[in-house]
Amino acid sequence: MNSRSTTTAVSPLLLRTGLLIDGMWEETDAELEVRDKFTGELIARLSTAGAAEVERAVGAAAAAMRREEIEPANRAAILRKTAEILARRRREVVRTMVAETGFTTSECVGDFERTLQTLEISAEEAKRIVGEIIPLDGAAGQSGRLGYTLRVPVGVVAAITPFNSPLNTVAHKVAPALAAGNAVVLKPAEQAPLCAVHLCEALVEAGLPRGWINLLHGDGRTGALLVEDPRVAYYTFTGSTEVGRLIQKGAGLRRTQLELGNISATIVCADATLGVAIPRCVATAFRKAGQVCTSLQRLYVERSLFPTFLEKFKTAAAKLTVGDPRDPATAIGPMISEAEAERAERWINEALAGGARLVLGGGRRGALFQPTILVDVTKEMRVMSEEIFSPVVCVIPFDTLDEAIHAVNDTPYGLAAGLFTSDLSKALRVARRIEVGSFHVNQTSSCRQDFMPYGGMKASGFGREGPRYAIRDMTEERLVTFTPV
Ligand code: NAD
Repeated sequence: MNSRSTTTAVSPLLLRTGLLIDGMWEETDAELEVRDKFTGELIARLSTAGAAEVERAVGAAAAAMRREEIEPANRAAILRKTAEILARRRREVVRTMVAETGFTTSECVGDFERTLQTLEISAEEAKRIVGEIIPLDGAAGQSGRLGYTLRVPVGVVAAITPFNSPLNTVAHKVAPALAAGNAVVLKPAEQAPLCAVHLCEALVEAGLPRGWINLLHGDGRTGALLVEDPRVAYYTFTGSTEVGRLIQKGAGLRRTQLELGNISATIVCADATLGVAIPRCVATAFRKAGQVCTSLQRLYVERSLFPTFLEKFKTAAAKLTVGDPRDPATAIGPMISEAEAERAERWINEALAGGARLVLGGGRRGALFQPTILVDVTKEMRVMSEEIFSPVVCVIPFDTLDEAIHAVNDTPYGLAAGLFTSDLSKALRVARRIEVGSFHVNQTSSCRQDFMPYGGMKASGFGREGPRYAIRDMTEERLVTFTPV
């Protein structure tokens, strides 16, 4: 196994932090421990929220919206200033993210820089929330009537986020919600909640009035309490499909935006430019130890190219170093927990027992998992039919493009997919028929830009992130009509 032990001294980062409710940081008796995912060191103790704190946080958000409206220009100024404040804390925030996630420093720098962009784009979008003119006199007998739509805040937004993008995914929910004029109650993932603390501190320092951002720590029980509170108008959730179902069930008639799981696929045709396809496929199969909702898990390669592709893909993946995320030479840090790494190992062993073959990897040490390539898989195996969320990719040959499209679509999910080809007509054909929220030509399933409309279909959820699209989702469209008298 190509691995490294700790080579850098990890300075202790022990932090004690509470909940942010109605502009005040407060502590509770119940605690959550956060550990460094590589060293196992205790890095923070956080107060967690029970029913009373959830009740007060949602109440504070609702009261803030009743008390005052923040003008769009002020929302924009606050979001822009938040980005400036965070930018000044770049080193500290990146260090925190590396510790709480186990992602490599360069992955965390990438996440951090994208967060600044997400805040900037949200600030811009706050200033251009537009409706439409409706020409009502287009209908017979409606002469002189005019209508227009106003976009008004939806109400209190609850944001519930996963561990695998603890700052940018949080910003993708909080910033558009505030840009749209909504107050927010945020519940970040229990495994990696510290970057959210930095974001909330920066928002408060940037001048966001009390009650507009409330931060609750805790696990799924705290999330479930938030879902029970009828004063929440809108849930923006990123996480597993299983939890997404629970949130949708609890939300009832209230609106939701659900960014859920996927078993992401990419198709490589024989006419692909291999020098481009190979590094992109390697990067998106293994980055963040495969713990990205768009991580490449199923790679369909045209049969005539299959042996050449597999050899080159294996050679490139074998160069990735697994180990200390603070070491600049490391490409893959630890998975979020040893239990998750054990689960991935079990699924691989099941596949091997069922006839799959290992081309690379397969092993782990603690939570460190080797980049793993499997072939001779069948669609019934869990490595193909469930989201593995680890650095594991199945490579499957195909004969016709129709067969590849059918295979990509043949899961309950539909978040994102990629295609490598130099034939425009093939790309156009696949774009029409592939069942995903985003489809990328000459990219893999994972190539998000923060201003894109981003989201899934089928069991990958619905609604769209990307500040402009999230603001559309987080506002009500109100029709106003005028009739001449
Ligand atoms: P998870 O579903 O276990 O947890 C996500 C959040 O939901 C956490 O904050 C958790 O505390 C909370 N939660 C758990 N139970 C709850 C309940 N009953 N009610 C309310 N909240 C509850 O997900 P995870 O393990 O943190 O993240 C991995 C998953 O997230 C993967 O499935 C991945 O595909 C998905 N994900 C999707 C996207 C996307 O954009 N589609 C992006 C990132 C991650």
